[in-house]
Amino acid sequence: MTDAVAECNIKVLCRFRPLNQAEVLRGDRFLPTFQGDDTVIIGGKPYVFDHVFPTNTTQEQVYNTCAKQIVKDVLGGYNGTIFAYGQTSSGKTHTMEGKLHDPQQMGIIPRIAEDIFNHIFSMDENLEFHIKVSYFEIYMEKIRDLLDVTKTNLSVHEDKNRVPYVKGCTERFVSSPEEVMDVIDEGKSNRHVAVTNMNEHSSRSHSIFLINIKQEHVETEQKLCGKLYLVDLAGSEKVSKTGAAGAVLDEAKNINKSLSSLGNVISALAEGTKTHVPYRDSKMTRILQDSLGGNCRTTMFICCSPSSYNDAETKSTLMFGQRAKTIKNAASINLELTAEQWKRKYEKEKEKNKGMRDTIQRLELELRRWRNGEPLHCSDESSPLYLYNSDSSSIVVRISEEERQKYEEEIRKLYRQLDDKVNMHSVIWLQLLASSRGDSDKVQTELGRLQTESDCAKAEVREVLQALEELAVNYDQKSQEVEEKNLHNKQLAEQLSLKMVTYSHLEAELTQMHEVSSQQRKRIADVLNGLMKDLSEFSAIVGNGEIKLPVEISGAIEEEFTVARLYISKIKSEVKSMVKRCRQLENMQLECHRKMEETSRELSSCQLLISQHEAKIRSLTEYMQNVEHKKRQLEDNYDALSEEFFMLQNSALHAESRQTQLSRLRDEINEKQRLIDELTDKNQSLELELAHVRSSLSNLKQQDDTKSACLEQLFQKERNEQSKQDLKRLEDTVARELQTLHNLRKLFVQDLTTRVKKSTEIGPDDSGGSNTQKQKISFLENNLDQLTKVHKQLVRDNADLRCELPKLEKRLRSTAERVRALETALKDAKQGAMNDRRRYQQEVERIRDAMRLRYPTRRSNAAQIAKPVRPGHHVAAMSPSSFSYTSTRASKPATSYSNALFQQEEQAALQKTNT
Ligand code: ADP
Ligand code: MG
Repeated sequence: MTDAVAECNIKVLCRFRPLNQAEVLRGDRFLPTFQGDDTVIIGGKPYVFDHVFPTNTTQEQVYNTCAKQIVKDVLGGYNGTIFAYGQTSSGKTHTMEGKLHDPQQMGIIPRIAEDIFNHIFSMDENLEFHIKVSYFEIYMEKIRDLLDVTKTNLSVHEDKNRVPYVKGCTERFVSSPEEVMDVIDEGKSNRHVAVTNMNEHSSRSHSIFLINIKQEHVETEQKLCGKLYLVDLAGSEKVSKTGAAGAVLDEAKNINKSLSSLGNVISALAEGTKTHVPYRDSKMTRILQDSLGGNCRTTMFICCSPSSYNDAETKSTLMFGQRAKTIKNAASINLELTAEQWKRKYEKEKEKNKGMRDTIQRLELELRRWRNGEPLHCSDESSPLYLYNSDSSSIVVRISEEERQKYEEEIRKLYRQLDDKVNMHSVIWLQLLASSRGDSDKVQTELGRLQTESDCAKAEVREVLQALEELAVNYDQKSQEVEEKNLHNKQLAEQLSLKMVTYSHLEAELTQMHEVSSQQRKRIADVLNGLMKDLSEFSAIVGNGEIKLPVEISGAIEEEFTVARLYISKIKSEVKSMVKRCRQLENMQLECHRKMEETSRELSSCQLLISQHEAKIRSLTEYMQNVEHKKRQLEDNYDALSEEFFMLQNSALHAESRQTQLSRLRDEINEKQRLIDELTDKNQSLELELAHVRSSLSNLKQQDDTKSACLEQLFQKERNEQSKQDLKRLEDTVARELQTLHNLRKLFVQDLTTRVKKSTEIGPDDSGGSNTQKQKISFLENNLDQLTKVHKQLVRDNADLRCELPKLEKRLRSTAERVRALETALKDAKQGAMNDRRRYQQEVERIRDAMRLRYPTRRSNAAQIAKPVRPGHHVAAMSPSSFSYTSTRASKPATSYSNALFQQEEQAALQKTNT
């Protein structure tokens, strides 16, 4: 989610390194002339950048001028990128890394690592940070993880906001600058191990160090995140080579496709056509897509050699920088809004939308009117469009034809401008409308998505439950089946045992019969043998004629013959019976054999059956076990799901209750805040009043002073009056004197006239004396007049002052009274203010206590850096030192600082009350 879009150009900074030893020895010329701090002149041509660093610039200066701000931006939720571009050995690595563990010579990356944590420790205590870093390089279009040497060809994917990232690259959580440095050291050593020629390798590969900062406000749950890419590019001399030689082009491109496509991307962006920017041509441009013309604050360091030997490369590098300077990025804060904020934003946007629509309608109406030549009415004073015509219609001036044309021309021009402006405004408004509509759509889709997700989850749970039920049923069936089979099995086994018993019986019988038959055979054979022997003997005797049948004994012989015949026939019958018996026995034997065969066949079939059954039993038991296992799993699953479900329910309930609680708390807080505000307001107003009273007091004092001065004056005047009275007396006397003088003068004049008469009677001498006397007289008369005038003036003044005096006395009295009243009021006000202040402080204390009680686990005063421990997390990164760094959280300085502040406040309050 983005907010507060700010369009800004890519910042391009140019840095020249000093001539190196080889160049000095070779006697190369030093090319650049630096003018101001943003221009460098090479070959008479000036190149202007955001800043140009001459050769003697220190690492710290470079950092402070340019990179420091980026840290603030990234912690403020912006994305940031710093590139270093330039030919090999122009100072890219020096600028980006420098000597990693040298405080003076360290470059931008170690300084940033330090600065990030310093910033965090001075930030809001309620923020929680998760910082992770990755380190990888791109060589021959393969992304190699420098923190895991086994990952040699990572791929670039897009996240849900369609921002590309390196998938599967190692991310290390860090919680201190030392840990960041450890990661860098590890990556660098891995890089060294993997390659044979490091110089060649580093000049042909891009190394990218990524710092990912996520922060969350623990109370508002507001989330911000910022990514900072720090990129040390491959040597740029390849680009110029590809540009120069066509035949080598393909090979060179393959060697460093990323760099050439960086050039292409920058060219495309600089041209501003923007129809197609070939981000997808290489891995690097893809990863840094946002840094080039996207949502990022980007700074590019153009590193150059000052040597005349590298003239061409330097110029092409500078040109590259000039092109990059024109690229505009639209950086915005990466803000993750909570649902409530989304809702509010949506409402706000809707409101805005409505307002804009109204405005557009009004404007369109106005435009139509204006196009139709109707006079514009000035109903809306705020709109700047009406200012044009508001006066001109009422002024009637006679002008010449020429002037008229000129004016018409002017008017037409103004109309055109007006048109343009109106169009522009309407376009802007439409854009705004569209964007807000888009936003609202986004919000809607987001809401929809969430809804569907929750629906899906519900459906899934339902499905799982169903599946579980089915499985349980299945399981029951199967177990029943198994039982049946077992029973069957048992039966079969019994049958088998029976069969076996009969078989053994039969076998025993058979053997018996065999025995009997063999005995009989033997006997028969013996008997036969005996008979045969007898017969042979008999025949021998008969044949040889040895046996001479005595005739005389014929009667006896005959007798003997019959006996013999009898014997023979007996023997014959016996033999016959023997043979018969033999045959019988043989038959029996055959029968037995047959039977035996049958039985054995049966037996084998039985055995087969048994083995089959056994196999079946085995498979069934296996199946049963499987099913059991599955069942257990499913039961587990079910348990987990039901637990989850419960938890979800609970959490929903909880969330609701928490929400309500939260809202209640918020309300309470708001109430308290309002109370505090009120109290502060009151306090302020009281303070104001106090100040007012004080000022009025001082005024009064001043007045008092002036009055007393007046009084003084009056006293003086009184004194004056006295003196005046004296004066009057004096005047009176003077007047009397004058009167007498007058009389005398009269007398004198009379005398004089008489004398003159007399003298005229006597003769016209002595005239000179009378002249001087006349002069004297007139002089005296003048004096007298003046004196009388002064006298009159004084008398008038005196009367005036006398009139004034009672008034002033009255005013003085009233002033004194007012002063007294004000003093008492002031005292009262002071007392009241002190009371209020005490009450206010008590209230604040109470609220603070309440808050403390409510959030007892919350610690004080410093921003926290959380270090989530993850499985597979590197052991070294969890060293005890780093943990201690995390747990202390630099809270001490903050505490003392806030304490100091508090004490200051206290003292100020004390002073106030004292005064
Ligand atoms: P690259 O990374 O562009 O190939 P290096 O940063 O490795 O170049 O620099 C090459 C050499 O020049 C290194 O020895 C480095 O210390 C030196 N150098 C580069 N820039 C400066 C500078 N501004 N001041 C002093 N030495 C530098
Ligand atoms: Mg380098």
